[in-house]
Amino acid sequence: MSFGYITRRFRFCASHRYWVSDWSEERNQAVFGSRISKYGHGHNYTMDVTLKGEVNPVTGMVINLSEVKQIIGTVVNRFDHAFLNVDLPYFSKMQPTAENLSRIFWRLIEPGLPAGVFLHRVRLYTTESVFAEYFGDGAEAVFSKRFVFSATHRLHSDGLTDEKNREVYGKCNNEHGHGHNYEVIVSVKKPIDAVTGMTLPLKELERIVRDFLKTELQGKRLDMEVAYFRDKPATSENLIHFIRQGLEEKISAFLYRIKLKETNNNFFETGELFDEQ
Ligand SMILES: [Zn+2]
Ligand SMILES: [Zn+2]
Repeated sequence: MSFGYITRRFRFCASHRYWVSDWSEERNQAVFGSRISKYGHGHNYTMDVTLKGEVNPVTGMVINLSEVKQIIGTVVNRFDHAFLNVDLPYFSKMQPTAENLSRIFWRLIEPGLPAGVFLHRVRLYTTESVFAEYFGDGAEAVFSKRFVFSATHRLHSDGLTDEKNREVYGKCNNEHGHGHNYEVIVSVKKPIDAVTGMTLPLKELERIVRDFLKTELQGKRLDMEVAYFRDKPATSENLIHFIRQGLEEKISAFLYRIKLKETNNNFFETGELFDEQ
């Protein structure tokens, strides 16, 4: 028997607000910004639920997708077009952050699964570039944001002859360089803070990563202006390690995964978990 993973996407629209009732308005404002409005603000949420289990030798399936749609769809339906803080019972004391929402979905979905089918991951997007993941790991969640920067490079190795460089790197060996709009997805893994409902607050993650990208990479010719690439080719495999090193100094043990997209056709990854989505 073989083991399989299956992911199904769900969507819902909802509003929410962040507000810690034990805090003053000023403190709420300082931590959550405009997201404290009592009227809430809205998102088109997208949730990818990954299930795992043995592939049934007769049906060839881990679980029938129509069954997945029915079990999880019933849960998701309660969140659709709701004001999460008010219309659902979970968020009177808990902030409806992406981290807490993915954890709540895990708790609600798990008991409804048939025997032999298990949750692997709940991934919840609040926007196309911000998402949280929960793996059933106590209070720990993964929080991710996608950033974009533009840089140019030439692929060239001092360890190869000019002829061999042209052969190995092709057009990328053009001595005048060429450029990309790189996308980098930075993920941190941390316990969800019991009060704020957050792992690393988005604003803090943005400040750290944007500072790094602006200082080290944005607008640069990598192989000429970034010292790290003086003795190694400015490939994405090397670039992702440069980014990881730079962010590790600032995010330390919380850095979980980095994904780098050079073009829409190729991406690179470093971290604990290989994940092709
Ligand atoms: Zn929001
Ligand atoms: Zn290139």
